[in-house]
Amino acid sequence: MKVEVIAVGGYNEVGRNMTAVRCGKEIVIFDMGLRLDQIMIHEDAEVENLHSLDLIEMKAIPDDTIMNTVEGTVKAIVCTHGHLDHIGAIPKLAHRYDAPIIATPYTAALIRQQIEGEKRFVVNNPVFELPAGKKYRYEISQHLSLEFIIVQHSIIDAAMAVLHTPPRGAIVYALDFKLDRTPVLGDPPQHCTHA
Ligand SMILES: [Zn+2]
Repeated sequence: MKVEVIAVGGYNEVGRNMTAVRCGKEIVIFDMGLRLDQIMIHEDAEVENLHSLDLIEMKAIPDDTIMNTVEGTVKAIVCTHGHLDHIGAIPKLAHRYDAPIIATPYTAALIRQQIEGEKRFVVNNPVFELPAGKKYRYEISQHLSLEFIIVQHSIIDAAMAVLHTPPRGAIVYALDFKLDRTPVLGDPPQHCTHA
């Protein structure tokens, strides 16, 4: 099984993060973010009313039209924490994929709030809560499963995502994090608790 990483957004800029990982014919998307500064420069832009293609042109959300050239089916959309550069494009792009959105409980609540505020698109993707920690796994398909690892960031319930792709091993998607062994809120990073 071939594993391929598609750098969709956020790679040569700050914001609008989106990465797709293709394992054989199955694809998992990590994050769908917004680039706020690209919205701010348009004084009267009301994001909730704008179309995805306009926002792509404004460079405010990832240009996911590249996904049309990737062979395979998107099986899951995974968000690692609730900052807008990771979840802000969900209301504009998620409906294009017949796939659930998976996030930690707090992140999932923020995603639902984003979806409720959307005025242009109807987003019906189910939103699943997967708590971070070794005990919890989400079976994406027969071949792929997902685990969240507890990390600290400037927002609670942040996680690294680990995509288990036996027999190819694990793919770790880790963006914003800090390893704080004595966090004010939440549990310390997992490698500390399970060492
Ligand atoms: Zn962040």
